[in-house]
Amino acid sequence: QAGTVLSIQIVPFGEDQSMVLSRDVTQFEKLETMRRDFVANVSHELKTPLTVVSGFLETLDDLIDELPPEDVRRYLHLASEQADRMQHLVEDLLQLAALETSAAASYDETVQMASLLNTILEEGRALSSGRHEITLDFDGPANLRGSRKEIHSAMLNLVSNAVRYTPAGGRIDLRWNVAAGGGARFAVTDTGLGIEPQHIPRLTERFYRVDRGRSRESGGTGLGLAIVKHALSRHQATLQIESRPGHGSTFAAAFPAERIARPTDA
Ligand code: ADP
Repeated sequence: QAGTVLSIQIVPFGEDQSMVLSRDVTQFEKLETMRRDFVANVSHELKTPLTVVSGFLETLDDLIDELPPEDVRRYLHLASEQADRMQHLVEDLLQLAALETSAAASYDETVQMASLLNTILEEGRALSSGRHEITLDFDGPANLRGSRKEIHSAMLNLVSNAVRYTPAGGRIDLRWNVAAGGGARFAVTDTGLGIEPQHIPRLTERFYRVDRGRSRESGGTGLGLAIVKHALSRHQATLQIESRPGHGSTFAAAFPAERIARPTDA
């Protein structure tokens, strides 16, 4: 608790010590505010779909004998959509919690990028259901060292955002190549909505969204880029964002040279 830390502050260790402790308290209060905001956000995000589901179930319970079957079907469909939304949110929350707390266990897997990126390309095309033209430009390196599961999740999140925020008929290009400095770079370029510059530094905050309605409507949980940031930082990789409002965006993951596995490691 913040109060506990404050009471240590009066221990007479001299001025320097008390300065350090008071900084600790500020940091602690900031974390406490973040934690409170997070709990409020999660509760709100769960409450909205839950209210819809219980509303539909109550209506069905009261009126099942009078409602025409097509209305029953429609209510069940809408309730099930909201249940899916809750499920995605809980899955993303669990994934984020694991990324924040679990030890970096299998960070020495050799991840075969050709196979992983082809899977991601197919998954992206399935999410788009033909609404976008999605291409992959693969130029090596062949392998990364790290957790396949986490790299997969980070890269797929970038692709699913490109699908979500690019209107039908747009293009999405995935590119894997050697980066400046000998590392590797995975970039997703879309011809979508783009993002105003003032939002960019905040995009990886949990539940930060430029357009709440659009994110929810298209199945976003508001946690995708927070997951990407954590998964990448566990691989000493960084997320780079460039965007032109109205024209499109590039989200790229830049891996350092020490994450590249020699072909003989495979
Ligand atoms: P969400 O589930 O809302 O997509 P994310 O954390 O993945 O949550 O992204 C945060 C916000 O960043 C999104 O709500 C959206 O406003 C913006 N964003 C992410 N990717 C893109 C993109 N490719 N084009 C435009 N906006 C994007």
